[in-house]
Amino acid sequence: MSNNMYIARSTDPAILEKAESGGVVTSILKSALENGIIDGVVTVRAMKGDRFSGVPVLITNPEDLIHTAGSLHCSLPNIPRFVKEYLEGAAKMKLAIVGKPCDIRAIIELQKRNQIETDNVTLIGLNCTGTISPATARKMYIQEFKVDPNSVVAEDIDDGKFTITLEDGTTKSMDLKKLEEKGLGRRENCRRCLFNIPTFADLALGKWGTEDIEEAGTFVEVCSDKGRSLLESAIEKGYITISEPKKESIEMRAQKDKMELEHAMMWRERDFNPLLEMDLPDRLKYWTEEFSKCIKCFGCRDVCPICYCENCLLEANREYLVGGEIPPNGIFPLTRLAHVADSCVGCGQCQDVCPMELPLSKLFTLLNSKLSEVFDYVPGIDREQRPPTTVARDEELLIDDTFLRITSAMKKSDETETDEVAMSGK
Ligand SMILES: Cc1cc2nc3c(=O)[nH]c(=O)nc-3n(C[C@H](O)[C@H](O)[C@H](O)COP(=O)(O)OP(=O)(O)OC[C@H]3O[C@@H](n4cnc5c(N)ncnc54)[C@H](O)[C@@H]3O)c2cc1C
Ligand code: SF4
Ligand code: SF4
Ligand code: SF4
Repeated sequence: MSNNMYIARSTDPAILEKAESGGVVTSILKSALENGIIDGVVTVRAMKGDRFSGVPVLITNPEDLIHTAGSLHCSLPNIPRFVKEYLEGAAKMKLAIVGKPCDIRAIIELQKRNQIETDNVTLIGLNCTGTISPATARKMYIQEFKVDPNSVVAEDIDDGKFTITLEDGTTKSMDLKKLEEKGLGRRENCRRCLFNIPTFADLALGKWGTEDIEEAGTFVEVCSDKGRSLLESAIEKGYITISEPKKESIEMRAQKDKMELEHAMMWRERDFNPLLEMDLPDRLKYWTEEFSKCIKCFGCRDVCPICYCENCLLEANREYLVGGEIPPNGIFPLTRLAHVADSCVGCGQCQDVCPMELPLSKLFTLLNSKLSEVFDYVPGIDREQRPPTTVARDEELLIDDTFLRITSAMKKSDETETDEVAMSGK
């Protein structure tokens, strides 16, 4: 094997029947588990067959993997937090973890903060152009597609269309843009997402580039030595077969990626420009009004894969800044913003859970894009690059911009807090 790109296909008919494309993800995982290369797999499984409630699962019995094959577009599993919270950050097991680009990027950010092991983990990335919240999906199926949500057995997003497959094998497609104009379709953060092919994982797998081949296949890009050895082992042991992709297939994949990036930039301009065009007092007024709606339910903090401090300074017993105050006077979301904005991966989980419908991921992504420009730092794509606010020089934090000033202020408060914690020995 000398190239980095392949079209691969499972040799297992049962996996092929259930899989999304060539069954390669499931087969590679099976090969790694059955041959003792890893101790466990972290992936996603639909609870009791309900496609809208996929949850992260740890699988150690290879026979159980078949139940995880296929893609769930209307489930929002929090894979990074599952690994960090429930699997001790992979400290005790060698794991292969399957995830979309935002999942993989969050895991990499957590690895930089020593919250998830690096040596024990192999990252299996899936291409992605978006997920749909389960509630929106159900509404969209009833209202627009005129079908029973429980009769949908598969979804797909491709070439600007959202397509569903029903139990009887029939398919129905609708224009994604039109659905999104009505507030349906993909989650807001997914529309703005700039990462479709997770080349920062060890393997990046997807459908793009397989459209013209006769039998279903999975396009595989090898992104690291770890990824290569997992793939080679699955080939040697007969779990998958591979062939070289045609030049046209590689071009088609790149073309689809480019097209999706253009769409995402269009959504970014549409969502961000009205905010950026406001003068400073109006911008502050807008965010202050939004923040004042916060009821301090802690949902956004608890769900965010990047929030990891054990002694969170937002807790009621920490008499600092917000302390036990209810309502929390807007400082609550601002403090979180200052803590994670440099490393926000735009996963949208915070906005999904906010009961007051604060446009959290919009703000975090906007600030993150600003910080990325200033610090030349894109979260979750390079393990060696440190998060900027942990290494930023004072003069960088004093650049004249409201967003940066907030970060600077919060960083200083945080240092004071860290000093206090150090002094109190907590
Ligand atoms: C939400 C989503 C959007 C996608 N969009 C694109 C796209 O635009 N272009 C493209 O080329 N490919 C896309 N893919 C990837 C594609 O659908 C297949 O996963 C990929 O081609 C591998 O196919 P396979 O047959 O080898 O995988 P399989 O053997 O079927 O295994 C699929 C694996 O994905 C896991 N999985 C399913 N749902 C999720 C989820 N929501 N989050 C994390 N893991 C999950 C399963 O548990 C399983 O381990 C998307 C996948 C998902 C989940
Ligand atoms: S943010 Fe949305 S589009 Fe981007 S990788 Fe995550 S689920 Fe996919
Ligand atoms: S701040 Fe929100 S969008 Fe950013 S990583 Fe945390 S949960 Fe995801
Ligand atoms: S989820 Fe919303 S209401 Fe709850 S603490 Fe976060 S910003 Fe406030």
